[in-house]
Amino acid sequence: MSEIHDVVIIGSGPAGYTAAIYTARAQLKPLLFGSSVFVGGSLTTTTEVENFPGFPEGVDGPELMTRMRAQAERFGAQMIDDDITAVDLTGPVKLLTDSTGTVHQARTVIVATGSGYRKLGIAKEEELSGRGVSWCATCDGFFFKGRDIIVVGGGDTAMEEATFLTRFATSVTVVHRRSALRASKVMQERAFADDKISFAFDTEIAELKQDGTMLGGVTLRDVATGATRDLAATGLFIAIGHDPRTELFQGQLDLDDAGYLKVASHSTRTNIPGVFGAGDVVDHTYRQAITAAGSGASAALDAERYLATLT
Ligand code: FAD
Repeated sequence: MSEIHDVVIIGSGPAGYTAAIYTARAQLKPLLFGSSVFVGGSLTTTTEVENFPGFPEGVDGPELMTRMRAQAERFGAQMIDDDITAVDLTGPVKLLTDSTGTVHQARTVIVATGSGYRKLGIAKEEELSGRGVSWCATCDGFFFKGRDIIVVGGGDTAMEEATFLTRFATSVTVVHRRSALRASKVMQERAFADDKISFAFDTEIAELKQDGTMLGGVTLRDVATGATRDLAATGLFIAIGHDPRTELFQGQLDLDDAGYLKVASHSTRTNIPGVFGAGDVVDHTYRQAITAAGSGASAALDAERYLATLT
């Protein structure tokens, strides 16, 4: 078997790379698995990031991630662009298998696998991501000043996004497949009371229209009658949920009802000693690059302190 690493990190988003920077600077020679197909995490799917501190002019998502990776490598972090496909985290030495079948051993593991936004699954959705289609009002709302916007979804997140977006938008139309919202009463009431927000119930997005490289409007479909109509919105926020990437850990790490990794309060410790969780895989509340990076730093410090107890 291979050497026993002090730290193996799974995930190459802001949480994983930040954990790599911290553990590398602590001389722990981290080994990071960053996925075979999606190196750099969620920010590689966006263009301008304007809210990450230190970049007053904004920074391209992929460039930000390349810089984080370079910073970790500068201090000796080793990166493998491959997936971890199986784990046995139960013993004092954790076993992680990559897609080639190689088993890696580690005293500590930092899980930073992120979460994926649910998609509508319609044509042009990916193509128009960052070009009028977004999954995050906090991230992108500012770009939509004076525009007509659609928010898809009926839960708390959708109501929160719709209400937040009225700060920038001329109008916000909430499109929901059902005849009633799922959101809590207080969130619903806030949205209903807002003059800028209107609702299209029993309705789904049938088609995205393109204007050059940008979203030019949508076609809505009544789910009961099948009747369609066009809406000239140039912003579409999809708020139908997200799925934490935790399948790999089921049966070993404690997960909450929505599948997020559970960690002990004010720490990144999971239920298994030596295993830590950071970033969006733990966090269904904030889901920002900076909060993910912050918890990556916390996980690195927790791992470092745990390793110190072993000697
Ligand atoms: P992620 O960035 O999701 O990275 C996790 C990585 O782990 C992925 O690369 C994944 O493939 C990998 N992984 C998963 N499983 C495995 C495995 N088994 N083996 C190996 N690798 C694995 N936030 C902001 O603050 N500002 C913004 O402007 C902003 N814009 C956004 C725009 C878009 C389109 C999206 C989708 C998100 C945006 N966000 C923004 C949110 C931000 O990207 C996330 O909050 C942040 O990336 C979460 O970081 P993370 O490290 O937890 O996970």
